[in-house]
Parts: sequence; C-alpha cells; structure tokens
Amino acid sequence: MINNIYPWQEALFSQWMHAGTARHHALLLHGKAGIGKLAFAQAMAASLLCLQPQANAMACGECGSCHWLSEGAHPDFREITPEDDDNADGSKKKTRKRQQILIDQIRALNDYLALTSHRVDGMRVVLIHPLEAMNVAASNALLKLLEEPPQRTQFLLVSHQRQALLPTILSRCMQVDMPVPTREQGLQWLQAQSVTQPEWIWHYSGGAPTSVQQEDLDWYVWYQQWSPHLSRGSAMDIVAAGPVLLKQGMEHAIQVLQKWLLDIWLARHAQPLRYHPSEANTLQMLAAKLDVTRLLAFQQQLNRFKMTAQHSLNQELQLEQLLLQYKKLFG
Ligand SMILES: [Zn+2]
Repeated sequence: MINNIYPWQEALFSQWMHAGTARHHALLLHGKAGIGKLAFAQAMAASLLCLQPQANAMACGECGSCHWLSEGAHPDFREITPEDDDNADGSKKKTRKRQQILIDQIRALNDYLALTSHRVDGMRVVLIHPLEAMNVAASNALLKLLEEPPQRTQFLLVSHQRQALLPTILSRCMQVDMPVPTREQGLQWLQAQSVTQPEWIWHYSGGAPTSVQQEDLDWYVWYQQWSPHLSRGSAMDIVAAGPVLLKQGMEHAIQVLQKWLLDIWLARHAQPLRYHPSEANTLQMLAAKLDVTRLLAFQQQLNRFKMTAQHSLNQELQLEQLLLQYKKLFG
C-alpha cells in the first residue's frame, strides 16, 4: 500500500527521492482530485523513513520502519487530516466527517516536533491533506512551523485547491505541479483495475480516474440507472428519479447534475462534450430546448447546495427542489 504510486508519477518520484539534501523542507503537491497525489505523498514518506530503500527509491516494505508505518504506528511520522467527530459516549458509530483541520491538531504537531526524532540521524515526516481544510487559525500555526522548520523534518502538503491557500503558506513551500495521466496511461491503468467500461470512466472522471479505487461504487452501473431519467428533460418523473440519484448521497447527486449540465452547455455551444461523449445525441436534443439564463441560476444554486450537502437534514426534499428546477430548464 505504501508503494502504490501511479505509472504517470514514476519519473517525478525518482526525481524527488534523489534530490536528497537539495529537497525543499516543505513540498506542496497540488493538482486536481483523482490523480493520486496522496498515494505519491505516502510513498515518499515511506521511502524517506525506510531503512533500506530499493534501487528505484521505493520503500522496501519489509524493514522495521516500513512495518511501523503500515501499522500506523511510526514514531517519526505524523499524518494530519480532518478527523471524525467522536460521539459523546465514545462509540464510533455514525460519526460525522469533519470538514476542517483544527488548530489543536497543529498545536499537537508543534509539541511533537519540539521533541527529537526517534532515530538519531533519522528524518521525521509530516503529511497534511488536504491542506485547504485548515481553518485560518490552523494555517497561521502551520505558517510558524514552516518559517522556522525543525531540523531534518520533511513536510508533505497535499492540496486540490491551491487557490484556497494563504499566500504566506504558498511562499514557504516548494510547489509541485503533480502530473496527470495521459489518456493512454489512464486507460491502461483503469483496465488493470478491471473496472467495467474503462473508456467511459476515463471521460466521466474528467481524466482523473484514481478515485475508482477509493469509492465502493460502480460508476457505470449507476450511470445506467440515472441517465434515462435526466435524458427525459422536462418530462422527467421526479418521484422516480430522486431515489436513484440519492443512492450515493447528496454530494454525488449534485456532482452528477453538474457534469451533465456542463455537457448540455457545451453541446449548446457546439463544443466537444467532456464527461458524456457517448450521450451526444441526447445532450444535443436537451441543449436545443435549454433556457440558458435559467441554467446559470441553476448552476449557482447547485454550488450553494454542494457546500451544505453533507449536513443537509432533508436531502430528499432538497433534491426534489433541484430536480424541479432541472425540468424547468427545458421550457
Ligand atoms: Zn523499509
């Protein structure tokens, strides 16, 4: 698992691992979601901590350090990410995924870094992801650490949204533009994952396919269920469509609508479709009936709903409202 980098990252991996002392103490790995940035950072951490890295610079997977890391117990490694909220009774059931990295997490990191590393000459590695999840207080606390970096400490910072980061943080990092797969690399990799319809997934993921590993979801099967509903435009049956779209939760439902609408908009402007090229005929028919002014308002509404999607109390009702607006787009 710690050696799971993607084929399109191999050259960059070797470049960074061989940089040695020339490597900046804080690397900001940025790029769109779904291209494998976190896997790259994890492999880098493993390699830096490994006692006997392989010739290709990957961690050996067998030494004491690698064992500690795979058990989540390495004394010289810290991973910081939004934590789940615990229930008051201490049970782990129904925890809500937190959105933010909090200042207490960075304070704890600061205390930890004030201690010396476990190994006398060893590295310490700090992995923070996604960096944009830090609130302002946490960002400022991290900034202090980056300004006066502790000895022999490598910060690996992962971000999907560099534009959301404080400029002061950016100025303290070396920014690494993470490689995206070529179409050929992406398709080859998807085929090796034995997903159904690699070609379709390649398009639907917008060329960022690695999330198929994290999500327990057959995107193509689900698509076959929702697309007939959305294809009906103003004649769509909301009562039938709602539950199908909500199967994977509100966030995914909104994403489906956003991608579908973008392609309708592209069809309207005679541009190549991005996510559903196999639906060209349907999307062109919908585009011909589209009320463009309403589309813009609807897209803004979708963006607003997306921000609250995880906390929404009545998702069925919210989605019904959205689908009603969707029908009205087509006159
Ligand atoms: Zn090792």
